[in-house]
Amino acid sequence: MPKNAPPDDAASARAALPHVHAIAAYQPGKPITELARELGLAVESIVKLASNENPLGMGSMAKAAIRAALEGGARYPDPFALTAALAARHGTAASQIVLGNGSNDVLDLAARVFLDGGRSAVAAQYAFAVYPIATLSAGGEMIVAPAKNHAHDLAAMRAAMRSDTCLVWIANPNNPTGTFLSAAELRAFLADVPARVAVVLDEAYNDYLDAEEQYDAVRWIAEFPNLIVCRTFSKIHGLAGLRIGYGVAAAPVANLMNRVRHPFNCNNLALAAASAALEDKEFIAKSHAANRQGMADITAALQRLDLGYIPSRGNFLTFRAGKDGEATAAIHRSLLRQGVIVRPLVSYRMPEWLRVTIGAPAENARFLEALETALKEA
Ligand SMILES: *Cc1c(COP(=O)(O)O)cnc(C)c1O
Repeated sequence: MPKNAPPDDAASARAALPHVHAIAAYQPGKPITELARELGLAVESIVKLASNENPLGMGSMAKAAIRAALEGGARYPDPFALTAALAARHGTAASQIVLGNGSNDVLDLAARVFLDGGRSAVAAQYAFAVYPIATLSAGGEMIVAPAKNHAHDLAAMRAAMRSDTCLVWIANPNNPTGTFLSAAELRAFLADVPARVAVVLDEAYNDYLDAEEQYDAVRWIAEFPNLIVCRTFSKIHGLAGLRIGYGVAAAPVANLMNRVRHPFNCNNLALAAASAALEDKEFIAKSHAANRQGMADITAALQRLDLGYIPSRGNFLTFRAGKDGEATAAIHRSLLRQGVIVRPLVSYRMPEWLRVTIGAPAENARFLEALETALKEA
């Protein structure tokens, strides 16, 4: 123990708010450097397919924008340009945009605006792990509605709502399952939900949908002013490390979210990179195509290996690695020993599943090779 470490049972920690004690900490994908330290491996030899990051890295336009913005580091950030670009992109007023330090920040803002002790939020079983964290952090109660075939069951979510329910979380496509709700299903749900209940539609993976699956939820806000649409630059735009995302909402809702937002929550480099990334059509198209091909390669290989998976519309795939949680944990450990990091889903209560991010072709090949080795060892 370090010399200046306080005792483990600090009375102030014990006396902290019960709803904070009730939070199960978010479990991020294992960082490359951590596995390198643990196994004494070279950082370059490790393949990380655990956090749904873009395997192509950042686009060249974003990189150039970051370089150009470096000199402005002494100034507080000015969100005007990105806000205006996003409003133009979505055909909204600038007053409808809420910028976030990652879209996780936006989810948190929504929770802080709508939740408190005595209020509840509804999310689906197997929905993104940040929803319960944001809900509990705000003091709200998390109601989990059962999933259907690992997908959100909107009827079950509607049935789970109570008179104190003020917020509903929907991820479309969902992480970690990759399941998808059609525009028609979402609209029917919105029409059915009381107007006082905020509906957060988290579209982190929207850009990975094929053209025929695309829908424009922002256009629905005029009809359903309780709808908050969240997007991120962390996934297809390749800016996960810069932390930038946004929400689009009715102006009065966005106004409230902006009141609880830290004034300078998005830094200069992230703002500049995001503005550039938004315009980099070529990089987005390239990322989309690479994901599609990688997804086809990995699903084909899993079929060959006779492993079940949940068809995914994101940039990741959740597959049943072993017959039970123990077998899957062994396969996960073997992958790590071979320098391949994927995401275990024990914290989602899906212990027999692993989630792999679609990587670059060489990364996908390394993963599949390591998986075959792991399966032989089992
Ligand atoms: C990755 C992800 C996000 C985005 O998180 P950021 O904070 O923007 O990096 C949001 N929602 C879901 C479902 C995700 O998987």
